[in-house]
Amino acid sequence: MNHVRVRYAPSPTGQLHIGNARSALFNYLFARHFGGDFIVRIEDTDVARNVKGGEESQLSNLSWLGLDWNESPDKGGKFGPYRQLERLDIYQKYAEELLENGLAYKEYRDDGKKFAIRFKVPADVDYVFKDIVRGELKFSSKDVEDWILMKDNGIPTYNFAVVIDDHLMEITHVLRGEEHITNTPKQIMVYQAFGWKIPEFGHMTIIVNENKKKLSKRDKNVIQFISEYKEMGYLPQAMFNFISLLGWSPTDNQEILTKEEIIKSFDPARLSKAPAMFDKDKLAYVNSKYIKALPIDTLVGLAKPFLENAKIEIQSEEWLKLLVGIFQDRMSFIGQIVDLYHAFFHDTFELSSEAFQFLVENNSHSILEAFHNHLEASDFKAETIELLIKQTGLDTQTKGKPLFMSVRIATTGDMHGPSLPISLALLGKDLVLKRLKTTMTKLRGES
Ligand code: GLU
Repeated sequence: MNHVRVRYAPSPTGQLHIGNARSALFNYLFARHFGGDFIVRIEDTDVARNVKGGEESQLSNLSWLGLDWNESPDKGGKFGPYRQLERLDIYQKYAEELLENGLAYKEYRDDGKKFAIRFKVPADVDYVFKDIVRGELKFSSKDVEDWILMKDNGIPTYNFAVVIDDHLMEITHVLRGEEHITNTPKQIMVYQAFGWKIPEFGHMTIIVNENKKKLSKRDKNVIQFISEYKEMGYLPQAMFNFISLLGWSPTDNQEILTKEEIIKSFDPARLSKAPAMFDKDKLAYVNSKYIKALPIDTLVGLAKPFLENAKIEIQSEEWLKLLVGIFQDRMSFIGQIVDLYHAFFHDTFELSSEAFQFLVENNSHSILEAFHNHLEASDFKAETIELLIKQTGLDTQTKGKPLFMSVRIATTGDMHGPSLPISLALLGKDLVLKRLKTTMTKLRGES
């Protein structure tokens, strides 16, 4: 393949959306796989829709995802400027060329001064192109009316500016969303009018929600902005991995892949023709896999701000590490640690009748008493607690479920949970002793 140049061309109309992130990511993968250039160009000609900070948000979220680019408004490059509103004289010049060649005409406004420039669509011509995703597509010029190249305010329309830029920026492949398929014949007309080489086009399928409806920004059931995932504590590597599977899959259908593996195995021939399903559960699964694989110190560093924001008192660095450690395998996203913490440190201590029945049937009072006595003088470290549970077992000649479950129920109130010694160390001596006493009193009342 000749030197590949692809681009992601967002309009700065808001935050980076999952659909746009996918367009950017697939272009990035295409460029990196083929050793080409990845360019970011800002298409800001729809002035009324531009939002302040839109460009920065696009770029900062892309780089958070782990993308980097060769040319862009912030980085520059030899094909700049990379913002369309800074290229108005370029579009003007090419529009005039079409006027001179009789391929476009002026359409005057009522004031007799201002005019738009319309493209003169050739009669009865077929536009055929081989789409990288969909194969051959064919459109007739009969279905396209003369369309506006330049508005009367001197700003080009998308379909005109995109061709001028893609040509001048030497773009070889245009990968974008399916909603642009019907724009493609208009763009081909412009390439032909100038006698320019037409790039290859590839239109990626829509992304649908779990009800097979096109993902819409108004759909409140699906979180759709990259910044929101970032704020919740999704990991960029996991997002990168997940988004790469929205309409593409590697030959072995493996689901957890590093960036390098994805770049290496990326194959545009494997872009799916079927809509890509945005599966929230799969995203949670992928993210949890990445969380599990993090070194504990890294995860502690990432989790700490969430706990601090939730005004949870961090008792010590050691305590924090224990806390994060017991939940590492249970988090779908790091911010979830706050809910897990609250579920674990619930204020109320009530035993279900099932749990209480267990204590009664297993003669747990003596176990709890022995354990309580050992704990009173202990340093309350998890390792010590573990030994003391064993010692209690020896003292009372119990082991296995009657021993461990009795202690768990009487101290946490739950019949299931994370590592018992660590749980108790986290709950702390005062609370554990108090709960043991409460439970013993209740048991005595029963006998
Ligand atoms: N600005 C267009 C969009 O955001 C770009 C389309 C294209 O890639 O040609 O949809």
